[in-house]
Amino acid sequence: MPIQRLKGTQDILPETAEYWQDAEAIIRKTCREFGYEEIRTPIFELTELFVRGVGETTDIVNKEMYTFTDKGGNSLTLRPEGTASVCRAYVEDKLYGQVQQPVKLYYMGAMFRHEKPQAGRFRQFHQFGVEVLGADKPVVDAEVIHLAWEIYRRLGLTGLEVHLNSVGCPHCRALHKQKLQEFLAPRLGALCKDCQERFERNPLRILDCKQPSCREATADAPAITEYLCEDCRSHAERLQELLAAAGIPYSINPRLVRGLDYYRKTAFEIMVEEIGAQSAICGGGRYDGLVEEIGGPPTPAIGFAMGLERVLAALRVQEKLSPRADRPFAVVVTLGERATGLGFQTVSRLRQAGIPVSMDLLGRSLKSQLKAADRNQIRVALILGDEELDRGVMVVRDLILGEQSEVSQDEIVRLMEEQYGKYQKDVR
Ligand code: ATP
Ligand code: MG
Repeated sequence: MPIQRLKGTQDILPETAEYWQDAEAIIRKTCREFGYEEIRTPIFELTELFVRGVGETTDIVNKEMYTFTDKGGNSLTLRPEGTASVCRAYVEDKLYGQVQQPVKLYYMGAMFRHEKPQAGRFRQFHQFGVEVLGADKPVVDAEVIHLAWEIYRRLGLTGLEVHLNSVGCPHCRALHKQKLQEFLAPRLGALCKDCQERFERNPLRILDCKQPSCREATADAPAITEYLCEDCRSHAERLQELLAAAGIPYSINPRLVRGLDYYRKTAFEIMVEEIGAQSAICGGGRYDGLVEEIGGPPTPAIGFAMGLERVLAALRVQEKLSPRADRPFAVVVTLGERATGLGFQTVSRLRQAGIPVSMDLLGRSLKSQLKAADRNQIRVALILGDEELDRGVMVVRDLILGEQSEVSQDEIVRLMEEQYGKYQKDVR
């Protein structure tokens, strides 16, 4: 049997890769315009980073990490998310000392989680995310949500919902935790196994469980929003005012708690219903405690991550994917071995001049080379056989108009530059 790819991984084939590139280009451009700069961190890190940075009580650390021991005996993990690595770099590379503050970063790349593969859930998937480090005001939270919103607007997605909550701070969470445990204690039997384990260490997370039995048992559970301290409450209210001012619709979802330990205050998710059960295309929040947790100075921070597979799936169901307009402009059609030599030289000269051009690589007949050119919507064919070779010319055929003429081989690059320039103006 031929070797197959691993469960939960995908080949992104050329036609689809084109759509990925277009979406990535919009994302990068929007980030630059908002003043966010790219950071690229390693794909694997010491396991310890994620245990501390993502949190021991999370599903990610408990069940989903690809962890292995390398030849040096170190425990390493393929990154399951981006935030921990960005914070490590922020500390290690002393970005907190940079002149420009706050530090506004974005990243894009593959993440790895050992999950049960299903629609919208993979073992290797791709995230685009941003992190703003060194700023604690609600306006920062608003800018981050606005950035995600603006990217979706530019991509053409519609029907999105921002779900918003505040998970408080350790101060207000302590009281809520106590109230929540009092509420849950007599209902423990109705909860799933995972939630029974969460009861002691991370009861807040039970509110986020998707099991219907847990949902039912916690329907009237005390909401964290009722226990917010003054600072957390005014932060949440100010953020809502700012979102309203920017025209971003949101709804408050007190059950939204996110799986990660280091979240403080703002938590949010952006959903798009049409892509099925895995409808969260973006999740984020404030994590003021994380940088300190991994050995850096106390640093307020906020960020989000969006799942690019789900963004692409949403673009597909909403029919927002369109094929590229830019095709190779010309093809050099060669007949016979002798012509291949000059043909190849011509192709290389045209490419150096910046003209998109291709040539036959299979030694096909004139007819099938022209047919292929037609299929690829190529505008101009430069035809070269033995006879043209001997006379120092090429046949230039406009494949759309069907017109053709002979041109001296020395004139070809100049002529193509002229025609390609004109074609680009017409296309635009
Ligand atoms: P979920 O509740 O769907 O498991 P999560 O809380 O684990 O999400 P985050 O860690 O916040 O998700 O990641 C942010 C985004 O990354 C998600 O909103 C989703 O779009 C995407 N994502 C997370 N896990 C996967 C996966 N296994 N496959 C594809 N996309 C994913
Ligand atoms: Mg998950």
